[in-house]
Amino acid sequence: MKCVGIVGGGQLARMLAIAGIPLNLRFTFLDPSGDACATPLGTYLKGAYDDSEYLSYIAKHADVVTYEFENVPNSSVQYLSSHVPVFPSPDALAIARDRLHEKSLFTQLAIPTVPYKAVNSLDDLKDAVEKIGFPSILKTRVFGYDGKGQRILHGPEDIDPAWNVYGGVPMVLERLVDFDRELSCIAVRARNGKTAFYPPSQNVHQKGILRIAWSRPKDEMTLQIQEYTLKVLDKLDYVGVLAIEFFQVGNMLLANEIAPRVHNSGHWTIEGAQTSQFENHLRAILGLPLGTTESVGFTAMINCIGQVPDMEAVMSVPGAHFHWYGKKLLADRKVGHITIRSDDQDKLEILVNQLLQSMIDCG
Ligand code: AMP
Repeated sequence: MKCVGIVGGGQLARMLAIAGIPLNLRFTFLDPSGDACATPLGTYLKGAYDDSEYLSYIAKHADVVTYEFENVPNSSVQYLSSHVPVFPSPDALAIARDRLHEKSLFTQLAIPTVPYKAVNSLDDLKDAVEKIGFPSILKTRVFGYDGKGQRILHGPEDIDPAWNVYGGVPMVLERLVDFDRELSCIAVRARNGKTAFYPPSQNVHQKGILRIAWSRPKDEMTLQIQEYTLKVLDKLDYVGVLAIEFFQVGNMLLANEIAPRVHNSGHWTIEGAQTSQFENHLRAILGLPLGTTESVGFTAMINCIGQVPDMEAVMSVPGAHFHWYGKKLLADRKVGHITIRSDDQDKLEILVNQLLQSMIDCG
């Protein structure tokens, strides 16, 4: 029985374990929080991400190591990778955790991205605003997620307040794009370089947090999305699941960011694809053949944010599946998701609206 070490014990680690148990895998999670929701599914090491005793335990017991988020300390990744295979590689992680490095990579690979400028001081910010203009969005280079670490600048009066909040950490200023759609590509690359793509996800955010992801089999941007994503996967000699988020403006795609891990916009693959992103990530990092990524009908995923809807109401909608993470309810926290599948896109939209209404009705 092989052991997978996961740095992080939240819902992504939990869903990896749920996919891995039927593959006869066992899991060890390293997570400092008291209520890490993956922990009933494996060995729980409750400690800091750089806890040397626990890192050495993982190095000794795990056959392979992966992570559920990108902000793992460099020193921990370096230590682990000198003892045990770690995927995605430390080099891929170093790029994908930093918005500036990601954007430089996009530029190097001729993948269009949003106009941006690095910001390390108030003078830099003023220069960047001259070049990028308003409205623009200031983002921390690392540690940002779910819209955190970001601030929109509408005019010169917003420069000083933004600097007062974020000054002191490395940032980028980007143009705020008036996009038509947000799309993401979930792809998986095996240890032998074989690559597979899921149909694109079309994503709807609220307050910077993903609310709904739709599977888009046969989307007209599919080839373009896959071509750009393949360039990144090959350049990074990537192993595992990777997500890239894009803004679509007209028929042009602008790459926004890379997630070097299973991704929220790919949760629909659990019921909506032949092989889920979680199973395929495990297959890839273990050197197993990849499973087919074809979609099964049309699927939507709705995030439950800060509250859980009535389970009976959800389950009474045909084709709906409930995923509860077992986390404490906190405002703006992802605590579960619902997947809903249909053989017809129009029918799916009606069912999603029905579900959203039932979620509003139950508060
Ligand atoms: P991010 O953390 O970069 O994925 O940003 C979270 C969400 O904020 C995105 O999915 C968009 O909805 C919005 N956003 C981020 N950057 C931009 C941008 N440059 N222009 C327009 N919207 C953006």
